[in-house]
Amino acid sequence: MPLSKFTFPFPIDGSFQQVFKGPRPEHWKHAATQKGFELIGRAKDRLHVVLGCHSCGVATLKRVSVVLGHNPECPHCIQARRAAAARAIAAELIGADPEGNRHYGLFRFGCGHTDRRQYHRVEAAAAGGHQASCSECIEERYAEEAQCQDWELVGPARRKGPNYRNYQHTCGHCQDVAVVNMRHGDLDCAGCGETWASKPSEIYILAFTVPNLPVIKLGYSSNSTFRMRQVQYDPDQTRGSLLRKIDVETGHRAICVEKALHSHIRRNRPDLIVPPELFRDHIRTTSEIYHRHGKPYIEALLDAVQSGWDPRVQSAAA
Ligand SMILES: [Zn+2]
Ligand SMILES: [Zn+2]
Ligand SMILES: [Zn+2]
Repeated sequence: MPLSKFTFPFPIDGSFQQVFKGPRPEHWKHAATQKGFELIGRAKDRLHVVLGCHSCGVATLKRVSVVLGHNPECPHCIQARRAAAARAIAAELIGADPEGNRHYGLFRFGCGHTDRRQYHRVEAAAAGGHQASCSECIEERYAEEAQCQDWELVGPARRKGPNYRNYQHTCGHCQDVAVVNMRHGDLDCAGCGETWASKPSEIYILAFTVPNLPVIKLGYSSNSTFRMRQVQYDPDQTRGSLLRKIDVETGHRAICVEKALHSHIRRNRPDLIVPPELFRDHIRTTSEIYHRHGKPYIEALLDAVQSGWDPRVQSAAA
């Protein structure tokens, strides 16, 4: 059966296909309908058919054998689904993977950078309501988190997996550390022997604006100012500032006092707690956020800690 010299009058999957003149058996039409398509015609050669997608209406070229024996998918619907997932995470799908991997696409992120990313990861992020950043911005954040802890991000881990990086301590020693441990300052330097628990720390009150809602964050860090910068997704919007900090001799004591203060507030002023859904898109933290009008109360707690009150003793007695 002959290949016509005419093409279909519309592009199919991006190119014009020659019409193949031949019969369209009923069982082909039936199989196509069952799988969500209309059998529009035959094209290219005796092995291919043109299908119209029942969902999006766009035509696509498939092998007859796929229509009969498999589950043909509409590439245009898949593309639309991926583009929608990208929009849901404030990114834009701008094309196919420049490295030619069909599981990857090229995306432009909210920050303006472009980066390749696995489609299924973008869709999972969109489904989970997560934020997505480009690799460049992620590394930048890791560098800032390290700076908070007096370490410097050097680059990829030497010996460990993708969740690790290589960092240099202020003493000059380099070692691989899990990103999450660096974020929380939960590490010891194998070079100079400084341990996180023995390092001086601070308990701070930070102020933020999560659109139209003034809030404060009570926490501890060895560097409150860095911590304030690092928890914000968009500092222009959340306008973070450091309201107050008190020095604590060691990181170990800081975490104990901080935890005890949170449980003290939970018990005595649960009305001050801001629900996570109000801030989690704006501040990188899961809890420890209070209404701004709670500042005098929380400051009074810090005053008490400074004059020797141990909230842990109080907690145990209550
Ligand atoms: Zn479709
Ligand atoms: Zn970026
Ligand atoms: Zn060191």
